[in-house]
Order: sequence, then C-alpha cells, then structure tokens
Amino acid sequence: MSEPIKTDVLIIGAGPVGLFGVFELGLLDMKCHLVDILDKVGGQCAELYPEKPIYDIPAIPKISAQGLVDQLMEQIKPFGPQFHLGEMVETITRIGDPLFRVTTDGGKTFEAKVVVIAAGGGSFQPKRPPIPGIEAYEEKSVHYAVRKMEAFRGKKILIVGGGDSALDWTLNLQPVASHVTLLHRRADFRAAPDSVNKMMALVNDKKVDLVLGQVTGLEGADGQLSAAVVKRTDNTVGPVTCDAMLPFFGLTMKLGPVANWGLRLNEDVIPVNTEDFETSEPGIFAIGDINTYPGKLKLILSGFHEVALMSQKAHRYVYPDKKLTFQYTTSSSSLQKKLGV
Ligand SMILES: Cc1cc2nc3c(=O)[nH]c(=O)nc-3n(C[C@H](O)[C@H](O)[C@H](O)COP(=O)(O)OP(=O)(O)OC[C@H]3O[C@@H](n4cnc5c(N)ncnc54)[C@H](O)[C@@H]3O)c2cc1C
Repeated sequence: MSEPIKTDVLIIGAGPVGLFGVFELGLLDMKCHLVDILDKVGGQCAELYPEKPIYDIPAIPKISAQGLVDQLMEQIKPFGPQFHLGEMVETITRIGDPLFRVTTDGGKTFEAKVVVIAAGGGSFQPKRPPIPGIEAYEEKSVHYAVRKMEAFRGKKILIVGGGDSALDWTLNLQPVASHVTLLHRRADFRAAPDSVNKMMALVNDKKVDLVLGQVTGLEGADGQLSAAVVKRTDNTVGPVTCDAMLPFFGLTMKLGPVANWGLRLNEDVIPVNTEDFETSEPGIFAIGDINTYPGKLKLILSGFHEVALMSQKAHRYVYPDKKLTFQYTTSSSSLQKKLGV
C-alpha cells in the first residue's frame, strides 16, 4: 500500500457537483482531493452530453455542458484541487473521529477528515439494445453517446429511442448530418413536449424521417454499418440505410462500490438530511445525484445548494475549535483574498 495522501476533504466524483464542492469548501479553508473513475472531470456533463446546451443554471441563460464544466474548473482554480482521474474509490474505513482511510483500485490511499460522496449515479453505463451482433459495431458505427458532433457531419444517422436523449440528438444532429432517421417503437414519446413538437416540425418539413418499429438486425462489415433491419409496427421488415446508429435506451446506473461502504441506502441512493446532507455516518456527506431526501430533484442547481450547506457542517469536523462566521464574497476581503481578486 502506498503512503497515504493526507487531505481535509476527499471528494468521490468530479462531476459538476463535486467540482463546485471544491469552491465552497475552499472558501472555508478546506483542501480537497478528488477521485473519479472517468479519465476526465465533469461527470455526466462531460461524458454524456458535452455539447448540449443547459438552460437552467441560474443567471446563465445558455451554456454547453462542457462549457459549464470548464467554467467550474476556472472558478475552483484558486483552491488548487488535486485530481486523481481514472481511479475508482473502493473502500472507506473510519480510523479516527473523524478520520477516514479511503482506497482506490489504482492503489492510492487517502486519509481525510471528511469524505464527500458526489458519485452521481455511480458508474453509469448505457443500456445495450438486444440486437444480435451489435457488439461488433460498438465504438465504430454504433455509439451510445455523442462526444463530438463533428464526427457525424455528412453522415446518415439512425437514432433509436423515444426519450430526451433520442429527441435532443435528433434536433442537434439534424443540421450536421446528411440525413437523420428517428426510430421509436410507438408514436408516443417520453421526451419533453417542446422537443417532441420541434422534432415533429422537422418531420413535417421532410428534414427528419420518423419510423415506428424496432431494429432486429444490422448489416455492414468490419464494424461499419450500412443498414439496420427494421421491423415496422405494420409488420413489414426492411433495411434503413445508415452509416451510424445511436441507440438511446437509457442508462444503467451501477452503484458499484458505494454499496459496500456501510452507509444506509434507499435503493441505489443515499438518504441524507436536508440541513447538511450528511449520511448515516458522521463525517461522510452525500451531495448531488447520489443522494435522496423528500422532494429531491436530480438537477445541477440542487447539487450546488447542497454543497453550500454541506461545507458549513464539514468545517466543524475539520476545524472543531474554530467558530465559523458567515460571509459574502462580495463584501468579505478575506474571502476575496482566497479567491485572489
Ligand atoms: C442527457 C442529460 C441531460 C441533462 N440535462 C440537464 C439540465 O439541463 N439541467 C440540469 O440541471 N441537469 C441536467 N442533467 C442532470 C445532470 O447532469 C446531473 O444532475 C448532474 O450531472 C449530477 O452531478 P453529480 O456531480 O452529482 O454527478 P455526476 O455528473 O453523475 O458525476 C458523478 C461522478 O462520480 C464518479 N464516480 C462514481 N462512483 C465513483 C467511485 N466509486 N469512485 C470514483 N468516482 C466515482 C463518476 O464517474 C462520475 O464522473 C442531465 C443529464 C443527462 C444525462
């Protein structure tokens, strides 16, 4: 086992909520290390929808998901967070009061006075549709996420699904692709009504083809699709020509090791109180999508609020003898000094 890395706070997960944790904890003089399974920061925003615009971050009318992550990284720069990417936290053990030993699958050990679980849905994986032989096309011409829209420029795309991701990518990729077909098993969509209306307008303008049915097979060679075989709802079967297929059948949230950390769980999320977002274990907090409480909304802005309150309580563990005085960044010269402004 390696020499332990000592820190005030160990944040598990470098999604938007974990990143903002660095800011609020930093304002209160707590140093953070962050561990994430992904090889980049930003969680779902960076991994699942980097180029999609987000419209519900207060005071930012529109920002891409990656843009939000970049701005968060800029905002937390003064606090010098240390990232350990491509590593999964495996164990958390209480070794003091409060002091935790945290280990990763990469062989690192941390000793932290406070542990903040910002693990989102855990290790999330897209659901694979039950199509024979699909594995041979994955990452080549079958994609479960859009990392770069440019990669789809000029392509014939088949988007499969009826939820928000399928509809959003139909709208976003239509101007980029040479042709878009949206395939759903019925004429009833789970996506936001506004997206459904926009998609139907494109269908009426003959800019998108809407097909009702299911993919039963794939045609192509060496991982490159040439068509998907589709059984339509009228029971006819035929090919839909495409260079790329994007199935959006939802995500499987695999909680992963979080389930083994001795915390009280409510299905796959961690119940917390709404005063400070502490778990059943004093000194271990859960913020963002991984937690639950009455009225919980899995929104980035909810996570940001949770971070602010969590930090106040975390301060008591890290500095038990220091009284915390509430201050505004606009008027506190000591906070501004920490921010370097
Ligand atoms: C397509 C789509 C569109 C969305 N649009 C919006 C929107 O418009 N507005 C909005 O507010 N929200 C939106 N959301 C939801 C938003 O992205 C989430 O609420 C947000 O990402 C939650 O942030 P988080 O930091 O809690 O978790 P996540 O972003 O899920 O990050 C958690 C991180 O923890 C890591 N992790 C998990 N387990 C471990 C472990 N054991 N060890 C190390 N690392 C671990 C994961 O790898 C991940 O990077 C959208 C989500 C999707 C999928």
